[in-house]
This record gives sequence, structure tokens and C-alpha cells, in this order.
Amino acid sequence: MSAPDALATVTTWQTAPTCGGDATTLERLASRVRERPDLADVAPFWLAIYEVLVAAREELASSRPRLVWEVRRARAANGQPQLDFADLRVTAGPLEELVRRLEGAWRRFDPDRRPVQADWPARLRSVFADATLSFGQRRDLAFADALALLALVPYLEWAAAAVVPALQEHPPEWDCGWCPVCGGYPDLAVLSGDPPQRSLICSRCSSAWPFRRVGCPFCRDAEQQAYCEGEDSAYRLYLCGACRGYLKTVDARRLAPVDPRVERLVTIGMDLAALEAGYGPQQTGGA
Ligand SMILES: [Zn+2]
Ligand SMILES: [Zn+2]
Repeated sequence: MSAPDALATVTTWQTAPTCGGDATTLERLASRVRERPDLADVAPFWLAIYEVLVAAREELASSRPRLVWEVRRARAANGQPQLDFADLRVTAGPLEELVRRLEGAWRRFDPDRRPVQADWPARLRSVFADATLSFGQRRDLAFADALALLALVPYLEWAAAAVVPALQEHPPEWDCGWCPVCGGYPDLAVLSGDPPQRSLICSRCSSAWPFRRVGCPFCRDAEQQAYCEGEDSAYRLYLCGACRGYLKTVDARRLAPVDPRVERLVTIGMDLAALEAGYGPQQTGGA
């Protein structure tokens, strides 16, 4: 592929095949983790969190009418994500119950965390509105924000299940490094197809969107990109010398279909390597 092609704006909405978000994620996580003794310390924590998230997403899907989505073209044309917070139809009671379950799962592994009181709908609204209040975007995240972010996931995934097929059917022009569904930043990229195309994966709703093959999604620099191959050649770590951002990349031609929730956990060693080398979020956490 020539450089101009690689830099060209993507105009079709072909994305890497992804899966998961349901009980298959839990099975996939458990089986991948068995092959990876190096993850024995962190895996039980994430399995416990995902059990809560998967159950919450299933509850949302079964208790609500199906969301019907028509692509909001004017928003896409302005670089705005499709979803507004109101589209998530968050109500206080079920949200508080979800946060309580997440907090319980978290504190089983981290008992020194003090329970937090918060206006959870307001907290959810603020993490939705500020994509930098995110894992991977802050060096330290307040516990309440971490819980709110996790609680946001089932609502976003419920909505994304309607929005993503609408985007595929009526693709907008979208050349942004943030998620067209919810506005979150990517924490994974996936290469798929022949010639290979790159999709970015949202760190919040796990939706995939097509993105130019070359260049940093955070600052768009295409000159100061470096990459390291992982021990397994299905993985690469891209480092940006311009903004110090990094992006983990999965080659779906070797590993398909890709469950982003599983891949972001099994590549946790790349996050640690990037952070150690001085890449990653520059912001410190809030209260
Ligand atoms: Zn998203
Ligand atoms: Zn960059």
C-alpha cells in the first residue's frame, strides 16, 4: 500500500470483526487467562468486574424496548458522537444497584478502598461528557470516577448495539480519533482484511470504527510513529513520539474474531511497558 493510500480518509465503514460483551466474553477471558500464568494476579479481579457488567448489560437488553437508531448525520459532520447522555435512559435506582455490585466486586480484591457516596447519575453524566476521565487517559483516577466509568459500560454497549449497525448501513464521513458512537478514546486498534485496514476500538463502548492506516489517532502525527512487536506476533505496540500516546494493536488476521474486552486485558503487559517508557496519560487524577 502506498503512503497516500494509507493516509487517506476512510470513506467506507468496513471494520474488523469483533465479538463479545455477553457470556462468551467471560468464557473467552477464563480460557485465555488459563494460558497466561503471568495474568494470574489481575485476571480474577477483571473476571469479577466483567461478570457484573455482562449481567447488567443482559438486564438492560431484556428489560427495555429495543433501541431503534437513525444516524445523526449533522452530529457526525461536526465530529460529535451519535449518543447524548439522555439516549442512555439512565435511572437512579438500577444505576445505584449496579454501582453497589461493582464496588462489592472491586473491594473483594482491594479491601482498603472506602465505599464512596455520590450522586451516581450526575457522576455518570460527567464521565460520559469528559472522555479524558477514563482508564488509560489519567494516571490516577478517583475511585468514584472509576466506578462510574465501569457502570457506564453496559449502558453504552446497550446503545451501541443499535447505533453501530445503523452506522454500517448509512456510513457518515468520520475521520476522528474518538469514538463515533460515544466519544471515547481508543485503547486498541485492530488490523484486518487484505490489504489490511485499521479499525480503532473505543475504550468505553468497545465499538470499532475505520481509521486511516497510518498515524496517531490522538494527535494525528504520522512522522514520529514507532512500533514494537509483542512476543506474540499478533500484537504490536505503537508509540507516538509527538504526543507520547500509545496504542496497542491486534492483528485480526492471526486472531479472529477479536473480543476487545479480552484483548485489552491480555495485553496489559504492553500498557505497563509503555508507561514505563514514559508514554501514556499526562493528566493526574481528580478527587
Ligand atoms: Zn465508544
Ligand atoms: Zn500522537
